Amino acid sequence: MEKNSLLRQLPKVDEVLRRPPVAALELPQTVVTDLVRGRIEELRQRILEGSLTSLPTVEELCDGVCADAAAAAKPSLRPVINATGVTLHTNLGRACLSEKAVAAAAAAARRYSTLEYDLEKGERGSRYSHVEKLLCRITGAQAAMAVNNNAAAVLLILSAVGKGGEVITSRGELVEIGGSFRIPEIMEQCGCSLREVGATNKTHLRDYENAIGEGTRALLKVHTSNYRILGFSESVPLQDLVALGRKHGLPVIEDLGSGCFFDLERIGIHGEPTVMDSVRAGVDIISFSGDKLLGGPQAGIILGSEEWIARLKTHPLTRAMRVDKMTLAALEATLQSYLDPEKAREEIPTLRMLSIDPARLKLRAELLRERLEKEGVLCEVVPEQDQVGGGSVPTQLLPTWAVAVTPRNLTVDGLEERLRTRSATPIIGRIAHERYLLDVRTLWEEDFALIAASVAEADR
Ligand SMILES: *Cc1c(COP(=O)(O)O)cnc(C)c1O
Repeated sequence: MEKNSLLRQLPKVDEVLRRPPVAALELPQTVVTDLVRGRIEELRQRILEGSLTSLPTVEELCDGVCADAAAAAKPSLRPVINATGVTLHTNLGRACLSEKAVAAAAAAARRYSTLEYDLEKGERGSRYSHVEKLLCRITGAQAAMAVNNNAAAVLLILSAVGKGGEVITSRGELVEIGGSFRIPEIMEQCGCSLREVGATNKTHLRDYENAIGEGTRALLKVHTSNYRILGFSESVPLQDLVALGRKHGLPVIEDLGSGCFFDLERIGIHGEPTVMDSVRAGVDIISFSGDKLLGGPQAGIILGSEEWIARLKTHPLTRAMRVDKMTLAALEATLQSYLDPEKAREEIPTLRMLSIDPARLKLRAELLRERLEKEGVLCEVVPEQDQVGGGSVPTQLLPTWAVAVTPRNLTVDGLEERLRTRSATPIIGRIAHERYLLDVRTLWEEDFALIAASVAEADR
């Protein structure tokens, strides 16, 4: 009885739609109608379940609809403040583009472009031409192209080179890279069979050589980006593998993963090979990501001999993996910076973040601490260590400085959650030793005032 009377008292959709706050919403009528229906339907369900014994006022219902409308209007893909210190945070979008790359991508997006148009000839051109010369100049490769990402590049290369035959790979390099990208499964997709050689920790040149047979199509080397086999381990030097390939007329393919142009040794990061090392070693086909250590947009870059790249450009899969104009524009601008390595280090955020001197990071942390203290936040500057991220340099941590916040009113977890879910620009930090850490390596100083205000507001 009670339920029936409550159900009868539920407001009509039209009645709610006419209320000023709802009528004033700047969303399409159909969307607003759906939101109102949703709210009323929710009340109806709760009455039927018996969990609602008195109705909210129509004003309260309208407030709910307005809150839903505000949530619906917010984009799902939003900028966040990365206070984790992980430079290449895959979940937060990996590399941040340089200002030049951003401007180039915006210009390509806004107007028409020479994407596939040759201005000199006045006829159709190639979309790959925009980055090929630059890639060759920077790396010394003969030819180059770019596809959607490195996973696509590996898929394309193995399909074009290995299909119907065998590809020989070391057991120590059968990697899985986040999600479901596993070398053995990719091989299967490409129609080639994997011939594993060696042991997990050691593979010798003779292991490759003994496996070469009639059906062999290529030798594959995979950079073990996100893990290292330490201790009693050995892999075949690239030069030796290339020499073996030459001897048997087999191409050597290398999936470099991160793909770094900048000699990271110069900034104290050890053991990450450069793309140029692989080109010099004579590897026939090399692929790597655009948005890892390179610091550009998501892309899969392929370098190789003219013959191989020509074959890849015309492979049927290539059309399904092609890069769009915004990516090409951003990639070209990023590559331009690399013509001068010092300029690359200043202009490309990834390199800038990785190469900041710890003393400067400390000053930056002091600056953030001052801002926070001005807002009444209890905090101190502490030394910390960072991962590079993006499956790069897994065994080395970089020394850094962070501001450790001790909340006054919330738990540390509570503060972390509020900053993540309630800040106008979400802040993603990390928790260590019962304190909330804001790691300054991945922050922009221009955001410090906003960060300080958000932390103070969250803990009020
Ligand atoms: C990251 C990575 C990939 C995948 O690259 P995406 O650009 O993310 O598609 C492939 N191989 C290796 C070794 C990697 O490290």
